[in-house]
Amino acid sequence: MGIVYLVGAGPGAPDLITLRAADLLRRADIVFHDALVHPDTIALAVNAEKIAVGKRCGAHSTAQRFINKRLIDAAARFDIVVRLKGGDPMLFGRAQEEISALREAGVEVSVVPGVTSALAASAELGVSLTRRGVSRSVVFVTPRVGAGEEAVNWAKSVAAADTAVIYMAASQAAQVATALQAAGMAADTPVAVVENASLRGMRRFETCLHHLATDAVHWRLSGPAVILVGEVYRRDCLAVDNTCHARDERAIANLS
Ligand code: SAH
Repeated sequence: MGIVYLVGAGPGAPDLITLRAADLLRRADIVFHDALVHPDTIALAVNAEKIAVGKRCGAHSTAQRFINKRLIDAAARFDIVVRLKGGDPMLFGRAQEEISALREAGVEVSVVPGVTSALAASAELGVSLTRRGVSRSVVFVTPRVGAGEEAVNWAKSVAAADTAVIYMAASQAAQVATALQAAGMAADTPVAVVENASLRGMRRFETCLHHLATDAVHWRLSGPAVILVGEVYRRDCLAVDNTCHARDERAIANLS
C-alpha cells in the first residue's frame, strides 16, 4: 500500500509552494490535481501520471466519491500518490472527505500545508489581517454550501470577527453585501477584493459594503477572488502607497 499525500499547491504562483510539496511532486508516481493548480506546479511531477480532477467551483458529492475511490485504487498500485489542491488542503478543499475515505480503506494519509488565498491576498494588499489596535481576530468563511447541506449563518461569523476573508463568493457580491448588512454591519464597512492573488493577472479593489454590489458589476471579476472585510481596509488605516494603488485600480476598473 502506498501513501496518499494531500498537498497544498499554494494560491497560484508556482514558486509559492513548500519545499516538502515540491519534493513530493518530484517523487510522485501519480498526481490528482485541482483545476486551479498552475501548470508549472503540475510540471514539477516529472515522473508522474497526471490526472485533473474536481471542477473549479468544487466537485459535486458524487464526483467527490469518485475521487475518493480513485485515490484508494491508486494507493494500491503506487508508492507515492499526491492529491494536489489549491491553496491549503485543509481550507474549503474537501480534505476531510478524502482523509476519512482513505482511513476507512486503511490507506495512510499525510497532509502538506500550503499558502491559502487569504494570505496571498493580504500580501498583495500589503495590509495585515491583524493590524495592531484594529483587528485581533480573523475569520475564513464561505457562503457556499454543498448540495443537501444546511445553510449556516455565515454572515454572523463575519460580523463577529474583526477581519473576514470570504472565499467562493466573488460571483455573489450583491448577496454578500446584503447579508452582511442584514447581520448588522455598517454600510461604510471597508471591503477589499483581490482577484488572482499571486498570479500575473492580479487585480485588487477597494470599496465599502454599500457600494460593493455596483462596483463588482464594473470589475467583471473572472479569475478566483476573495472578498476581505473589516476596518483594517479603511483608507485612513492604509499606508499611503497602498491607498494610491488601490484607488488607481478602482479608477481603471470603472473606466472599462
Ligand atoms: N483551499 C483553497 C481554497 C479553495 S476554495 C485555499 O486555501 O486557498 C476556492 C476559492 O479560493 C475561490 O473561489 C477563491 O475565493 C479562492 N482563491 C483561490 N485562488 C485564489 C487566488 N489566486 N486569488 C484569490 N482568491 C483565490
